[in-house]
Amino acid sequence: MTRTAITPDLLALPRKAEGPPNIVGLTREAMRIAFIERGVPEKQARMRVGQVWAWIYHWGITDFMDMTNVSKDLRTMLSREFVIERPEVVTRQVSADGTRKYLLRIAGGHEVETVYIPEENRGTLCISSQVGCTLTCSFCHTGTQAMVRNLTAAEIVGQILVARDDLGEWPVRGAPKDETRLLSNIVLMGMGEPLYNFDNVRDAMKIATDPEGISLSRRRVTLSTSGVVPLIERAGREIGTLLAISLHATTDPVRDRLVPINKKWNIEALLEACRGYAGLSNSERITFEYVMLKGVNDSDAAAKRLVKLLDGIPAKVNLIPFNPWPGSPYERSDWSRIEAFAGIVMRAGYASPIRTPRGEDIMAACGQLKSETERARKNPRFANA
Ligand code: SAH
Ligand code: SF4
Repeated sequence: MTRTAITPDLLALPRKAEGPPNIVGLTREAMRIAFIERGVPEKQARMRVGQVWAWIYHWGITDFMDMTNVSKDLRTMLSREFVIERPEVVTRQVSADGTRKYLLRIAGGHEVETVYIPEENRGTLCISSQVGCTLTCSFCHTGTQAMVRNLTAAEIVGQILVARDDLGEWPVRGAPKDETRLLSNIVLMGMGEPLYNFDNVRDAMKIATDPEGISLSRRRVTLSTSGVVPLIERAGREIGTLLAISLHATTDPVRDRLVPINKKWNIEALLEACRGYAGLSNSERITFEYVMLKGVNDSDAAAKRLVKLLDGIPAKVNLIPFNPWPGSPYERSDWSRIEAFAGIVMRAGYASPIRTPRGEDIMAACGQLKSETERARKNPRFANA
């Protein structure tokens, strides 16, 4: 028997067709239409979506055959036509303080990070919305990484499913309902700018807050933006989670340097958009994130300007001690400086918690996320990064 040589012709054959689509991440409406297209009677479709939805997002099952209240025929169809897929966990690191960092591989061989932060009476999952980021905030590790692509809704929701798998938090059938959740909060504060991946972030957060599935209250989900002003109002209407703004500076020249998107939409425009958001019925206080950089934005005068800027906005200020990363061009403010700054903000009537850095030993703290597989930007500023 002769071996078939690999000829150019053979290499030119069409690549293997892609497998069935992932059912995770579809909106209810998209799932309903997909079911009807595959022969589910229109009258039943909505009910079937409800059943499948609960299996995937409430019970966390990964095999259609386990959907015991769904007819055998339908289960067979589902298994043929769809997959229930999560991102692949490449590594899982656990910090001395209990913080867990997952490095996940997604289609195309890209990698993103997700961080779980356990606290006294809640657990927060910090999820990514993009591989890399188009923006280049000068204090952020992700900002040194070129933007590769938006995550799909499936990949955003998949981060929640992976964390719940790892925490062993899927309900056990017949067991009493457990109200105290290990994963009780979500913050969109990982890699990427969520408002630049608007539709997928919206669809994913709709799934996270859907009462028949993951069922987190919208008040337990916070979307953090660097200040994509034209999309803030729409985020309030269509996503409706809590809002956090990466402010970080109180004058435009300093903010231009730290958060370059400020050159497009400056502090005044940003705060105007915040006033609009706070006016929406479903909103609560807006969190203003403020990274404490030694000698850059941490003076008493800056704290006083901050308080003036926030006048009239239901706000709290989250002070984030700068987390260094290899080659980072800034230093963390001294603790006494951070406390003095917090005191001024607090005396003006705004809560001003200082965010304790978590998971530093595994580079899981704010702004430290970056997948090593992606090339750093070619920027002299990061020459020794
Ligand atoms: N792109 C969005 C969300 C991700 S960043 C945004 O910028 O808001 C999440 C938060 O971590 C932001 O407030 C960001 O400014 C902050 N951050 C980034 N790098 C940091 C660092 N090195 N130390 C501390 N906080 C950082
Ligand atoms: Fe992107 Fe946010 Fe980092 Fe800025 S702080 S580079 S917007 S991830």
